[in-house]
Amino acid sequence: MPANNPTPAVLAICGGGNGAHALAAVASAHFNGDIVWLTSSEEKADRLRQGVFSAQRLRATGAVEATARRVTIVSADPAIVIPQSDLVVLVVPAFAHRPLLDRVAPYLKTGAWIVAMPSRSGLEFDLRVAALKPDGRRVVIGFQTFPWLCRIKEFGRDVKVNAAKATVSAAALPVAAAPVAMSALSGIIGMEVAALPTFLDLTLGNTGQIIHPVGMHGLFGEWTDRVYGEEEIPAFYAGMDEETGRLLAAVSDEIVTVARALAVAAQGKLDLRGVLPIRAWLQTAYAHAIADSSTLARAISTNAAYRGVMAPMRQIAPGAYVPDFGHRFLTEDIPYGLVVTKAIAQIAGVTTPHIDTVISWAQEKMGRQYLIHSALEGRDTHPLRIPQRSGITTIADLVAAYL
Ligand code: NAD
Repeated sequence: MPANNPTPAVLAICGGGNGAHALAAVASAHFNGDIVWLTSSEEKADRLRQGVFSAQRLRATGAVEATARRVTIVSADPAIVIPQSDLVVLVVPAFAHRPLLDRVAPYLKTGAWIVAMPSRSGLEFDLRVAALKPDGRRVVIGFQTFPWLCRIKEFGRDVKVNAAKATVSAAALPVAAAPVAMSALSGIIGMEVAALPTFLDLTLGNTGQIIHPVGMHGLFGEWTDRVYGEEEIPAFYAGMDEETGRLLAAVSDEIVTVARALAVAAQGKLDLRGVLPIRAWLQTAYAHAIADSSTLARAISTNAAYRGVMAPMRQIAPGAYVPDFGHRFLTEDIPYGLVVTKAIAQIAGVTTPHIDTVISWAQEKMGRQYLIHSALEGRDTHPLRIPQRSGITTIADLVAAYL
C-alpha cells in the first residue's frame, strides 16, 4: 500500500485461530475491500472454507456482532493469497512470526504493509533477520495488544467475542508512516488505534509480558506436585492476591525505568512516554470494565473483561489437572516478552531483579535456559529476537534502530 494511498483494497489475514476468526468477521463489517485468508495447512483451509463460504458464513457474536461476508479466498498457499494483498496481517503467536514472515516474504507486493496483531516484543529484530527491514516503502505496524478477547465456538462458523477494548495502541516503522497507518487500521477494525511514538514503546510496553508470567508465578510460584480437581482450577485474574499485585508493579516499574534511561540517553530522539506503568495502562484499556481500582490486584481481579478466564492447566487423568507451563502465558511472554526487555535493559545498563526473579522461575518450569544468574547468557537466548542478535549492543545503535 503506497504511503500516500491510505485505502487498502485487499486485506490478508494470516493465521487460523481465535484472533483470525474475530478479525475476519469484524473487518468485514468495516472494510470495503476483499479479505483473503492464509492458513498454516490445507486441511485447515478446507475446514475454514466449509464454514466461511456456507450460507450462514462465519459469525462473531457477543461484544461484537458481525459476519465474515468479505472473505473471498481461504488457502494455505501464500502464492494465492499474498501477491494481491495491500495489508498483510499476522494473527499468530509471536513464535510463529518469523516462520510466517519467511513464507509470505517472497510474494509481498511492493508497498504492501505488514501488520502484527499483536506484535509482542522484538518483532523489529525478526524483520531485520528476515530481510524485511522497514523503509520508505515497507511499512510495519505492530499492535500492542489484541483488540478483542475472543474464542472460537465452532471452527470456521462461530467466534465469541467476550470483550472489545476501548482503544488499542500500535506503532509504525518507519515512524513517519504512523498517522496514515493508524487511520487506515482504525477504519478496518472499527476501533480507535492510537499511535505510539516508536516501536520501542511497543516492545517495552508489551503488557502481556508482565501480566501473564507474573500471574502464573502468583498462582503456581510454590507449585511442586499438587494435582487439582476440576472444581479447584483457579481463576487466572479473579483470584489475584495483593502479593502478586506488588510483584506486577515491581516488574512494571523496572520496565518504566529502562524506558526512562533510554529516553534520557537518546537526548530527545526517542519518545517513550507510551511505556506506561501497568496500573495506568489498565485504566486506559479497561476503565469501563474495572469495578474496584483501589489496588493493582483489585483492578485486575474486578475487571469484568477478564471474568471467567481460568488458569492454564493440563489434564493428566480424568478430573485431574496440573499447571500448564507449556502455555503461551510463559512460552510466548517470556522469550518474546520479558527476555527481550531484559536484553534491552542490559544495553541500557539497568538492573532488573524482579524481572530476573520471574524469568528464572519460569525458565526452570519451561525447561529452558535464558538467564544465568542475572545475565542473558543461557543456551536458549541466542535464537531469540533480541537486539544483540542483530549486532546491536550500544545505546546509540539501539536508538538508531527505532528512528
Ligand atoms: P490461536 O492459538 O487461537 O491461533 C494461533 C494460530 O497460529 C493458529 O491458527 C495456528 O495454526 C497458527 N500458528 C501457530 N504456529 C504457526 C506457525 N509456525 N506458522 C504459521 N501459523 C502458526 O491464537 P489466537 O487466540 O488467535 O491468538 C493470536 C495472538 O493473539 C497470540 O499472540 C495471542 O497471545 C494474542 N491474543 C489473543 C487474544 C484472544 O482473545 N484470542 C487476546 C489477547 C491476545
